[in-house]
Amino acid sequence: MEVGESSTNQSLETKITDLAKSKPDGITNSDIGKHIPDVEAQIWAKAVNKLLKNGTLELFQDKNQLFYKYKDPSKKTVNKGADNEEKVVYKIIEEAGCIGIWIRDIRFKSNLNMTQLNKVLKSLETKKIIKAVKSVSAGKKKVYMLYDLEPDNSVTGGAWYQDQDFESEFVDVLNQQCHRFLSERLEEALKQGGGPLLVRNRSYVSMNDVHKFISELGISKVQLTVEDLESILYTLVLDNKAERILNPKGLYLYRAVNSFLKMPGIVKASCGICPIIDRCAETGLINPKACTYLNDWLNE
Ligand code: SF4
Repeated sequence: MEVGESSTNQSLETKITDLAKSKPDGITNSDIGKHIPDVEAQIWAKAVNKLLKNGTLELFQDKNQLFYKYKDPSKKTVNKGADNEEKVVYKIIEEAGCIGIWIRDIRFKSNLNMTQLNKVLKSLETKKIIKAVKSVSAGKKKVYMLYDLEPDNSVTGGAWYQDQDFESEFVDVLNQQCHRFLSERLEEALKQGGGPLLVRNRSYVSMNDVHKFISELGISKVQLTVEDLESILYTLVLDNKAERILNPKGLYLYRAVNSFLKMPGIVKASCGICPIIDRCAETGLINPKACTYLNDWLNE
């Protein structure tokens, strides 16, 4: 698979949505399987569940056969019985799309007073027409958007944020594992020998190689995209731990480079970046004596 080809949930969702859009009578599990034969059923089933949950697809049954039908999120609107205030606020929130809009801006645009606006927002939220989402870029302030919309990464922070908090330990572990993968590839290339140019060319890895390695490690609770990992690898480039080149297809390839300055041994100790250091003690299951990472470092 080429870099940029999607193996991510997000792109799977797009593929399944596009398939459903192209068949207004609905699609079956078998249609999806045929459409994306290179993806395992259990992986695309997760994407289907997400689309059902966010209202992009609807489930139907006909003669014991299940169908998924595309449901345009923009068609969901306020009831006919809704009052004008609800319609005005709905329109303002709809225009904000998946970026959402602060209550202050809704108030400014709608000319409603705070009591009226709070009442309208509460009513629309109760009817599941809109939802409030905490935004990482606005000091965790709430923004409002249509209920069916998936918030933009600028609102959720993307894969590096959990409940709007930056997951620095997770990013450190990914950074370390990506570097390990690149270093191992470099070592293999050196072992195979040949001229410097051959070694150099053999030590390059594509983004998909890195994505596959990280996915197989199973260290991430969220589905990471190739783009997520590309941002991690770029930090390695900025730290002078890796370099990247563009291949003839315009895709980046990465390789580990030896830093100009040797790292002092203590800096490489596993405890410095250990994600479970808080649970490590002299007694108990997680302890320095039983720790293979620490022992590997001591025997280095
Ligand atoms: S000894 Fe092992 S488990 Fe304990 S903090 Fe260090 S690396 Fe983590």
